[in-house]
Amino acid sequence: MAQREDYYNLLGVKRGASEDDIKKAYRRLARKYHPDVNPGDKVAEEKFKQISEAYEVLSDPKKKEVYDKFGSYSENLRDAASKGAGAGFPGGFDFNFGDYTAAPGGGAGGGPSIKDIFSDLFSGSGTRTSAQSKHQRGADIELPVSLTFEDAINGTTKTISVRRNDICARCNGSGEGNGSPATCITCQGTGKVSGGGGFFSFDQPCPDCKGTGKRRPPCNECFGRGTVAKTETVTVRIPAGVDTGSRVRAAGKGEAGKRGGPTGDLFIITNVAPHPIFTRKGDNIECVIPITLTEAALGAKIEVPTVSGKAQLRIPPGTQSGQRFRLREKGAPSLRSNHRGDQYVEVKITLPKIIDEDSKELLRQFAKRNPENPRAAMGLE
Ligand SMILES: [Zn+2]
Ligand SMILES: [Zn+2]
Repeated sequence: MAQREDYYNLLGVKRGASEDDIKKAYRRLARKYHPDVNPGDKVAEEKFKQISEAYEVLSDPKKKEVYDKFGSYSENLRDAASKGAGAGFPGGFDFNFGDYTAAPGGGAGGGPSIKDIFSDLFSGSGTRTSAQSKHQRGADIELPVSLTFEDAINGTTKTISVRRNDICARCNGSGEGNGSPATCITCQGTGKVSGGGGFFSFDQPCPDCKGTGKRRPPCNECFGRGTVAKTETVTVRIPAGVDTGSRVRAAGKGEAGKRGGPTGDLFIITNVAPHPIFTRKGDNIECVIPITLTEAALGAKIEVPTVSGKAQLRIPPGTQSGQRFRLREKGAPSLRSNHRGDQYVEVKITLPKIIDEDSKELLRQFAKRNPENPRAAMGLE
């Protein structure tokens, strides 16, 4: 189980194959290997599980992105998810990989029935006759939010306005009004609709009347959709340590699900403003601080800024311009552990304007006592 075959190989498609090609490849293989077609054939069953797993990942743009990035979707990602490590993930850090492990239709266990597969495949592919029987999770919403440098380091709460489809309060998402039941239009009272088509045609219970053949007139609040669009104010806690491109999840604040399916999530994509002194490098913070010639030559204790106030930095005697000093755990809080990053202070020697004769004379004497040519190694005078 540890070594998995490449999902693209399993489906016999090239990397970069279109959604449509992936779907077609899966359909072709599903017809061949489905347990209903190969009763008792363990090899076919295993193959079917594998191609279903591959399809589940490659047919979902989000999962596919992760698979393409990490190479081996399930092992790497679950690892990353449990540790909360999102390093290198395009678009930054994702706080919850939960939905990647959810297998629609039951996936790993007994496997979806052939009807499940075909109703999944056919939904949204333009085949109107195959209405969906399953609950459908609502879509996620992504919203960009700008943060100051300090808010990203320290965490904050943001109140944002989100336009989303919520469950209709009047009909509680059923889409049904109060009138007396009449013949269902979808199934014309038969209680059944045809799923799939062509080679694999079958009947399944009508999703709109749940197989009863009768239906109440549509709700006059949502016109039968079961959801209503509304603008909602959502308060989201932004954890300390986010950076540009971090994804912060507000669970259940996405689009309402269909037919009783769960609501999607809202993802806040953070965009952090630059700071006049500090720059972020992952969890570390960098800055450049000027020091004088005498501080560099003789050593000194200076004050340096950090994101959590001023700190003392000891400059050892003989410090060169460009030398970097580390202030332990003065960086950004890590999203992946309880630690903080470090702050790196690069010192830059600035020369005073030497105008008075006494100072110039002191420097001439200094030069006389310390004859050196820093360009000697370059063969220069
Ligand atoms: Zn309604
Ligand atoms: Zn019906």
